[in-house]
Amino acid sequence: MRSGWAIPTDRAASAAHLMLCLDYDGTLVPIAPHPAAATLDEQTRRLLRQLARARGVQVVLISGRSVRDLKRTVGIRGLGYVGNHGLECSASGPRYVHPAAQRSRPRLQRLARNLRSALRPIRGAWVEDKGLTVSLHWRRVPPSAARRFHRVVAERLRPSVAQGEIRVTSGKHVIEIRPPVSWGKGDAIVRLLRHLPARRARPLVLYVGDDRTDEDAFRTVNRLGGLTIAVGKPPRRTAARYRLKDPRDVRAWLETLRRLRTR
Ligand SMILES: [Mg+2]
Repeated sequence: MRSGWAIPTDRAASAAHLMLCLDYDGTLVPIAPHPAAATLDEQTRRLLRQLARARGVQVVLISGRSVRDLKRTVGIRGLGYVGNHGLECSASGPRYVHPAAQRSRPRLQRLARNLRSALRPIRGAWVEDKGLTVSLHWRRVPPSAARRFHRVVAERLRPSVAQGEIRVTSGKHVIEIRPPVSWGKGDAIVRLLRHLPARRARPLVLYVGDDRTDEDAFRTVNRLGGLTIAVGKPPRRTAARYRLKDPRDVRAWLETLRRLRTR
């Protein structure tokens, strides 16, 4: 394998139950200039289907996208879908929308409208209302306008942040506006685990992700004794214990895992 860090693949292959948690953008597909362009190739789609059908394996996609968007983009039945960084879930066990996020919805909607008009003059800036969270994309903002983009965003968000009405995080060329709840991808995993039938042995949890919003999931999964894999090149600081280089590397590793689990 091309990974610099030796992933204990045998552990994932031999666990009686495996919960395979995968981020989407930057993990299964390369980051695209626009999220709509980040589509799953047929090979990876087939692989996910096979993994989902493998005995003792539960595949869960955990993304910053909304569940609706994620389902539309991926379109595989039998997977668990966790969206908006953990605030909503649609899996065979639990289905939920975080109640505090639901309550914040009108406020976030207003904020999205407000930001959309404030950012209109900045070329390449894009406000994506994802229902429970709002993404401000600046991947296509020219470098000369980046400072202005951040200044406008900071000005518009300051009052809501000061009032404790929202939480702001950032990822790769994206600023995320979230409801003021401390609830992330890691909490969603804990909740999924609680929903498993009591008679079933606790699964080995494996988490693969590429961005800052995956870090809380890495910490949670480490605590649970699972395996954590960061996607990307060093020297990014991460709580993940292992590393894969890029989505191609992820696919190759998942292919190995599938082979071992479907023997
Ligand atoms: Mg990602």
